[in-house]
Amino acid sequence: GANFGECYSYFADENCLNIASDRIINLDHGDPTMFAAYWHAVGGASTTVILGWQRMSYFANKQLFWFVEQELEREIRSLHKVVGNAVTEGRHIVIGTGSTQLFQAALYALAPPDRSKPASVVSASPFYSSYPLITDYLKSEIYRWAGDAMSFQPQSPNDAYIELVTSPNNPDGTTRHPVVNGTGPVVYDLAYYWPHYTPIIAAADHDLMLFTVSKSTGHAGTRIGWAIVKDVEVAKRMAKFVELNTIGVSQDAQIRATHILRTVVNAYAQKGSSPYALDRREGLDRNKLFHYGYSVMEYRWRQLQAAVSGGDRFSVPHFPPEFCSFFGEMITPHPAFAWLRCNKESDCHGVLKAEGILTRSGLHFGANSEYVRVSMLDQHSSFNIFLNRMKALSSVEV
Ligand code: PMP
Repeated sequence: GANFGECYSYFADENCLNIASDRIINLDHGDPTMFAAYWHAVGGASTTVILGWQRMSYFANKQLFWFVEQELEREIRSLHKVVGNAVTEGRHIVIGTGSTQLFQAALYALAPPDRSKPASVVSASPFYSSYPLITDYLKSEIYRWAGDAMSFQPQSPNDAYIELVTSPNNPDGTTRHPVVNGTGPVVYDLAYYWPHYTPIIAAADHDLMLFTVSKSTGHAGTRIGWAIVKDVEVAKRMAKFVELNTIGVSQDAQIRATHILRTVVNAYAQKGSSPYALDRREGLDRNKLFHYGYSVMEYRWRQLQAAVSGGDRFSVPHFPPEFCSFFGEMITPHPAFAWLRCNKESDCHGVLKAEGILTRSGLHFGANSEYVRVSMLDQHSSFNIFLNRMKALSSVEV
């Protein structure tokens, strides 16, 4: 067996590059396992203990959104204040079992219930591969997937549609805006709008925004997401969906998410307010999540860009720097996924699979098979093996 302990550091060293050279590296899912090193360093401060008699009721509070843990709501608002990535004042917060449940709640809340045909759900390609699957698996009569928003045009004012805008985008990391020429509702999926992935340009202030702990802190398994909603009637319908679907959201998971977010917020609160200078030591040493995330992602993108530049077989995107209000300086985006293109082979997924690298084909995102999406969020040992293989592949003439 390989000794992964040698590879605990995110900076590749000889040991990391030499281990398990035949191991299959799975970068198909966006599983954010790289954050475990950060939480390991944080240690006990992020621990949750729930006693046998606690949190037993269906009800978390006696108010309108009765399943929403009030302390979690408070930490979410504090976190957005620290980061400056979204406006929460005067907005309603609905908690869900991952943002995946809230995405469905949003479709339920926004699709008109009384039309002769379902509302068209659209998103500009390449779009997150789960959107078409989640939209259509129950064959709803009030909404259905209608594909690429770029080629969608409402036929009449009565033609209902819902546009999904993912920014930064999964899979290609670009900043997105609505593209449909119409007045239909827009769902902003801002799962990746955090300083470790992208410069924070402004506090997002849209009618309906989705966030998740999966991509902010890495706690994908806790299954907690949140929606920030302007209109109370939309928020109520979303909460109704969560009530009908799962009678609320696990209190245990909400409490864990509360402690996790509190740990993140507290590390920054000790040092006044933003901007928070980009100093590497602020990361693992001082428990600053976004500093840790930024330095890992910056390192990984630099290494990947260097690896593929050894030839012209592959290309990965390069992004222009922009001013980040959180760090107080110009930074380049470092997306959670690399949208990698095979420049000379048409089955890019197959090319990488043959080398023990599992990725997701562009075909799943409404794009073509010359592209694959590669997770940049795996643990350090896997990423370093991936990098090593990409270096070798890039230097092969095809
Ligand atoms: N939206 C986007 C754009 C995503 O990439 C993901 C996770 N891959 C999700 C939503 C789902 O997040 P969650 O774990 O909160 O359900």
